[in-house]
Amino acid sequence: MGLRFYNTLNRRKEPFALGRGKAVSMYVCGPTVYAPAQLGNLRSYVSADILRRWLEHGHGWKVQAVMNVTDIEDKILRDSQAKDLSGVQAFTKPHEERFFADLEGLGVERPGATPHATEHIGGMIKLIERIQENGFAYERDGSVYFDVAKYNERYGYGALQKLELGKDTAKHRIDNDEYGKESVQDFALWKAEPEDAIGWRSPWGHGRPGWHIECSAMAAGELGALPIDLHFGGVDLTFPHHENEIAQTKAATGEDLARFWVHGEHLLVDGKRMGKSEGNMLTLADVAKRGFEPVHLRMLFVQAHYRSKLNFTWESLAGAKESYERLQSFYDRLGEHGGDTAGDAEAATKLITDTQERFAAAMDDDLNTAEAVAAVFDLVRDGNALIDGDELGADQLPAVLEALRGWNDVLGVLTLEAPAAPANVAKLAEEREVTRQRDDFAEADRLRKQIERAGWTVEDTAQGPRLRKR
Ligand code: AMP
Ligand code: ZN
Repeated sequence: MGLRFYNTLNRRKEPFALGRGKAVSMYVCGPTVYAPAQLGNLRSYVSADILRRWLEHGHGWKVQAVMNVTDIEDKILRDSQAKDLSGVQAFTKPHEERFFADLEGLGVERPGATPHATEHIGGMIKLIERIQENGFAYERDGSVYFDVAKYNERYGYGALQKLELGKDTAKHRIDNDEYGKESVQDFALWKAEPEDAIGWRSPWGHGRPGWHIECSAMAAGELGALPIDLHFGGVDLTFPHHENEIAQTKAATGEDLARFWVHGEHLLVDGKRMGKSEGNMLTLADVAKRGFEPVHLRMLFVQAHYRSKLNFTWESLAGAKESYERLQSFYDRLGEHGGDTAGDAEAATKLITDTQERFAAAMDDDLNTAEAVAAVFDLVRDGNALIDGDELGADQLPAVLEALRGWNDVLGVLTLEAPAAPANVAKLAEEREVTRQRDDFAEADRLRKQIERAGWTVEDTAQGPRLRKR
């Protein structure tokens, strides 16, 4: 079938092809750094990461990935109460650092470029000038607005969604970055600001850019040739943000911003989108407080398709943790399994190739990670049965391990290097082994509980005791 993505532009799955020798250009709408990321945001970035990893590891393409950091915006100015740009940056920096630490914890590979809006003001001004020159923007009192009605006549506004455009669209202008999603209005490309407020000099006087222009400027500024191959963001950004990105770029250059518009569905709580403004947000710190690790959350996310809504519950996270542990134990078991039997080479090869085919077909079909993960878990079940039956020999082990690592390059849900236990825990395990050898099982049990209180479990394997993080 080949690789296909659901392209919101045409509301269907379409084959994704790439010219020979080309790299995939990919833009992801990044965070506004004024608060900790909530789990819904993180779901979006994990989905974008899976997309990128599949292009790289599944198809061997180079991916030029860009994710912006919105470090100037209404909410930032409101919450920072800063007097100048360095005050704003002192406020945004810790949020940004925490954001990237969250992504790292979740195994999200850092995009090649993560430009800040404040570094691209010149590019935004140029883009606004071109929009104005082409007749799709007008100035009022030092602010510049995008003329939606004019654009609609020429190109048709609403590439991603069917929108009802009133004739009087241009009569309503909107200055702030957050606004109702029902009505189409002329939006600010540039907002006039008093001389003493935070801002930049521009052909229209002192001011600052609107939110939407950022992404149009940074995508083209960082990735060069238009259209870029892929643009990714959460569904809530479809309108107005992405419609406006598309319109701005088209109005300025006559080009499409992106060939594929890919949208990730929401993480919900009790049927409602998780969000800061919804008052139901959870962060990675909340997850840690309940004793979960980021990888459990990643497992939860990849077990769902990125275009399905996913309702978050602690029970489902506990289920994902169990799945992770099942997969991890299988991986660890393979590493320890002596494999001194001859094994059934044919069975092992078939297991790997069948799973590989299922995995690749699922991922090519619009990144169906739910099905890809299911294929891997079927292999875990069958692989465990082969080991139990002494049918997996030394010759087959490396191939199974390598296949698992390959799938994990895409899913990122395995800990490849078992974390070393701290010295005190290792010592307890040694003492326990000694007491066990003496048949002092009561003492051995006491030591086991002590090890567990320290956050580890000890398993007695044929090769001796093994410590695992709980
Ligand atoms: P923001 O910082 O609010 O612009 O959001 C950053 C990214 O997270 C965007 O791609 C949003 O669409 C996405 N997002 C926000 N809330 C959710 C949610 N509950 N589930 C999934 N993605 C979300
Ligand atoms: Zn954007």
